[in-house]
Formats: sequence, structure tokens, C-alpha cells
Amino acid sequence: MLSLPEMTSSSLLLWIALGIMVQIALWLGISFWQHWAEYQALRNGIRTGTQFAETPEPAPASGWGAYRNFRVARKEVEDGAQSICSFYLVPEDGLPLPTFRPGQFLTFRLDIPKPDGQIEQIVRCYSLSDAPGKEFYRVSIKRVPAPIASQYPPGRSSNHFHDHVKPGDILQVRAPGGHFHIDRSQSPVVLIGGGIGITPMLSMLNWCLTEQPGREVWLFYGVRNGVELIKRRELEAQTATHPNFHLRLCFSAPSPDEALGRDYHHQGRVDIPLLRSELPLKPFDFYICGPTAMMESLVLGLEDWGVAENHVHYEAFGPASIKRKSSTTTPGAAAETQSNLVVTFAKSGKQLPWQPETGNLLDFAEAHGVKIDSGCRSGSCGSCQTVIRSGEVAYKHLPDFDPEPGSCLLCSCSPKSNVTLEA
Ligand SMILES: Cc1cc2nc3c(=O)[nH]c(=O)nc-3n(C[C@H](O)[C@H](O)[C@H](O)COP(=O)(O)OP(=O)(O)OC[C@H]3O[C@@H](n4cnc5c(N)ncnc54)[C@H](O)[C@@H]3O)c2cc1C
Repeated sequence: MLSLPEMTSSSLLLWIALGIMVQIALWLGISFWQHWAEYQALRNGIRTGTQFAETPEPAPASGWGAYRNFRVARKEVEDGAQSICSFYLVPEDGLPLPTFRPGQFLTFRLDIPKPDGQIEQIVRCYSLSDAPGKEFYRVSIKRVPAPIASQYPPGRSSNHFHDHVKPGDILQVRAPGGHFHIDRSQSPVVLIGGGIGITPMLSMLNWCLTEQPGREVWLFYGVRNGVELIKRRELEAQTATHPNFHLRLCFSAPSPDEALGRDYHHQGRVDIPLLRSELPLKPFDFYICGPTAMMESLVLGLEDWGVAENHVHYEAFGPASIKRKSSTTTPGAAAETQSNLVVTFAKSGKQLPWQPETGNLLDFAEAHGVKIDSGCRSGSCGSCQTVIRSGEVAYKHLPDFDPEPGSCLLCSCSPKSNVTLEA
């Protein structure tokens, strides 16, 4: 028979060790299960309970018809290079401002004097660069130079804003619009802004931090160096006061006096290896705006990384189409068009065989000397809206501007059958 001292020294220790191991295993199992359930809920878009509750959608913006007069209340240079200027706009009629969705843009109609003294009317879109709910709308505009060694004039609208638009001036503005805006769920979000593509991200970020302070938000802001940054102090202050906000300033060509860790967080462009090394494993929603090359590499790279297509949202500030690997068709887009079709421009008296390689009807018209008004060339501003006399067109992507019934946006579509256009 075993004596009592023999039992405590051997089996008691064993029992204690076993007990601890069972507790650890139980704790690990429960934590894993909770994490997995949370991950699956986010991944499947199930947003229940308080954690994923959606911020209620505000009453839809009532907007206004056509153009409304806005007074420039303030103008501020934003960056060290003096190439980005913010304009604070208030409605001339003094009536309340409709709200908007963070990420949307305003459309401006500008009368720009030409060197020959004539006035040229042009239409341009600029993203709202602050959260809704203020007494003003803000846009931040980058001066666009002429391409290096070209004979073309510098960008007309952006230079007009920088050089001629001043406080007190009246501008004609269409109501906020656009399909690129942040969702109102509480799911973690990654905002990526390259250069001037930061503007819609600032609107999304400022809205999130005010309306959804518990939401996890990452902002990757890519520029060449600190001279190009805007709102640096504001962003750094936000990281200090919002523990759920993570800022990563990425400099592709830092100046010699800029130090990693002090002035910026990462040397290089915003790319997939960086995202993979920085982001925890969570089903993030990604919002991207920047130069075409950056968006193309990120959108396709995220797809390769396994991020579902409906979790990657992007906007180009001009003509850019990213062919996603996973999608055979874009939602809202019609089928591919055929090559043996005829396009008739009624007013210009031209009947031409369609050339699919031209891409869209606007480029096709211009290539054949048919003059069409155009602005953004990306389906946002509506300048190239043209009446369809007969036939059908197909859209490559869902345009932001809703063309009137019986009309189409030439920059975003191609013929689906033989088509006769008013132009
Ligand atoms: C939805 C949306 C949101 C946007 N948000 C912003 C924003 O927040 N901030 C911002 O700064 N911009 C934004 N943009 C871009 C903006 O709308 C304008 O496209 C930009 O300001 C350039 O317009 P511009 O009139 O100055 O240049 P343009 O006159 O249109 O010229 C553009 C470039 O083409 C060159 N060029 C001129 N003539 C020719 C020619 N014949 N052939 C070839 N090249 C030529 C010019 O030198 C210039 O480099 C946004 C665009 C969209 C669609």
C-alpha cells in the first residue's frame, strides 16, 4: 500500500500539471472559436449585435437640380510644394447643405477665358475632401502641369482654380454624386490614397473617426516625399486621439533630410507586400484611389491575395479601367460588343465601321473628327451625354452619372448593335 507522502509527491504533481493543461486547452479552444466566428461573420457580411451594427443611413440627400451657385468662403494652400489648394464652399442662397456619402464628388461648370478672349465652358469633378455634416463643402485640387516636353497647355480647370478662383467668387456646382463611398458597417477598413487620390480618403476617414470611433481604420498614404503631403498635422493628431486609427505614410522618394520612423513609416510605394506585412488577418474592406498604375497593381494584387471582389472598391480620377481577373462581367455592365457594327453620327453625317480596339464611343468619335464635349472621360461628369436615335450601347462599367433615358455617356460605352447617335 502507498504511503500518503508518496502519493502527494508524484500523482499530485501530475494531477496539477494535467489540470493546467486542460485549462489552457479549453482557453485556446474557446478563443479560437470566438475569433473564427467573428471572422466568418465579418467575411460573410453578417453584421449583427452591437459590434457590427451599421451606422444608420442618413435621410437621402435631397440634392438640387442642375447647377447651384456656391461662394468660395476660404482658399488654403495645403502642401509644401504649393500644388494642392483647398476651397471651402458655401451655398449662395444660404439654404442648408444636403448631406453626402463620404467618398462622393462635386461637379463644377467653369467659364474659363481662352487666350483669344473667348470663354470656354468646361465641366470637372472634384471629390469632397472632408466629412459631411459641416456648414461647407470642401474640395482639394491639385494643379496639373502640361506633360513634360509637350506642346499642350497645362490643365485648364486645376490651374484656373489655383490662379484665378478666390474667396468671394461664385462657382456653379452640381449636387454631390458618385458610387464610390464608404459603407456604413463597422467592419474594419483599409483606406489607400496615392497622391491627390487622398481626397476621398480624407472624407471617409474624418467621417469614420467621428461617426464610428470604434471602427478599425488603416490609412496608407503614398507620396514621393513630405513636400507632397497634405493634412499631416491633422492626421497625426487623429492617430494620437483614436487608438483604432493606424496611419502609414509611405514615401517613394524621401528627401535626404527626411528620416524613416520620424518623418514617414515606410520607404517605397504602397504595395501588396507592405499590406501583407502590416495588416492583421481580418476581412477588411479596401478603398483605393490614386494613379492608375497603383490601383491596377493593388486591385489585382488584393484579388491574388484572396480578398473577395466585393471588398475592394476603387475610383480613378480619369479614364482607367481595371480588368479584374475574377469577374467575367462587371455588375451593371452589358455584354461584350461585336466588331462588325456600324456607328452613324447623324449631325456630322458620318457612317463608320466600329473599331472595338478604340475602346469607347467618345475616343472613336474624336478619332474620326466628330466633335463631342467631354470632361472626366470616366462616366462621372456627364459632359459627353449624347442622344441615341436608334440602336443600343453597352457599358463597360456602371457610370456615376445617370444619363437621361434615350441618351448615353459616350466615354463609358460601346455599340451593342448598329447605332445612330445625335452628334
Ligand atoms: C470622380 C473624380 C474625382 C476627382 N477628384 C479630384 C480631386 O479631389 N482633386 C483633384 O485635384 N482632381 C480630382 N479629379 C481630377 C479632375 O477632375 C481633373 O481631371 C483634373 O483637375 C485635371 O483637369 P484640368 O482641366 O486641370 O486638366 P485638362 O485641361 O483636362 O488637362 C489634363 C492634362 O492633359 C494635358 N493636355 C491638354 N490638352 C491635351 C491634348 N490635346 N492631348 C493630350 N494631353 C493634353 C494637359 O496638359 C494636362 O496635363 C477628379 C476626377 C474625377 C473623375
